[in-house]
Amino acid sequence: MKIGIVGLGLIGGSLGLDLRSLGHQVLGVSRSQQTCRRAIERGAVDDASVDIALMARAEVVFVCTPIEAIAPTILQLKTHLSPSAIITDVGSVKMLVVTAVKDLWHNFVPGHPMAGSAESGIEAAQNNLFVGRPYAIATTQTTPEDASEVIEEIARSLSAKIIKCSPSLHDRAVALISHLPVMTSASLIETCMQESDEAAIALAKQLASSGFRDTSRVGGGNPELGVMMAQYNRQELLRALDAYRQQIDRSIDYIKREDWAALKELLQQTQLSRPQFLKKTDCDPSSSGQKSLK
Ligand code: NAP
Repeated sequence: MKIGIVGLGLIGGSLGLDLRSLGHQVLGVSRSQQTCRRAIERGAVDDASVDIALMARAEVVFVCTPIEAIAPTILQLKTHLSPSAIITDVGSVKMLVVTAVKDLWHNFVPGHPMAGSAESGIEAAQNNLFVGRPYAIATTQTTPEDASEVIEEIARSLSAKIIKCSPSLHDRAVALISHLPVMTSASLIETCMQESDEAAIALAKQLASSGFRDTSRVGGGNPELGVMMAQYNRQELLRALDAYRQQIDRSIDYIKREDWAALKELLQQTQLSRPQFLKKTDCDPSSSGQKSLK
């Protein structure tokens, strides 16, 4: 299949690497000449250009630009693609994209691979990024079923796990498990940095180990992504942050009142609940199977 990718960064580049190794012909478009050159050198695309006209030959186009550029990119693609071409996106927020693209292209399949890293750009692209990861297909009533099936088949060939949902439910769910963690993890780092006792913060930096590494990871990632989550999923993120604040208040209350039984019960519940969100290998990265995700 001839597959186009617009936006050759972490996600676009990683898709290109895998799709090429599956035997597809991959054509890439990005803003900068340098990115196009590196994408070719890294083997993420067969050909690349800053001119979107290169997409004319593509049967399927993945739009992997930052969210705000998705609809403008599709508007540009309109004049070049064959009417039967399928466009899909990988944006981390779906309601805004679906609303903006609604009248632009009929054969549009809203998607969101739940995979990433703290890095960005073509140099961060990696093979097998999507293996074992959820891949949300957030269709609406107007999404053509045959187009959706083509994208699902491609995602399945990357060994991703297809999850079908509505765009609004997608946004509420990712606010909880993706966008809220970025904000709380950032708050954790900032709380440490606001410590007024210089000796304490200096020692904390020396003592920080695996617990701090795990809990601070997403708060120490790409700032643009974090702002994008807040900006484009504002309502759902605010709802999640409000709920989180209530939970913090609850813990503060237990500790102030020295209600250790209530605190223990809460922590017993969270210990039991965590595996409902993660595969065993993700709960415990030391268990076997993690290597295959690299
Ligand atoms: P990224 O590494 O910064 O890559 C985005 C690339 O898009 C940049 O390298 C840039 O290439 C290119 N670009 C920017 N504006 C463009 C435009 N107008 N036309 C063509 N290319 C343009 O970002 P990313 O992490 O791959 O994220 C891309 C999309 O994936 C976003 O919509 C994001 O929501 C979604 N996503 C991200 C993650 C994650 O964890 N990172 C996970 C799932 C989905 P140049 O170098 O040419 O400027």
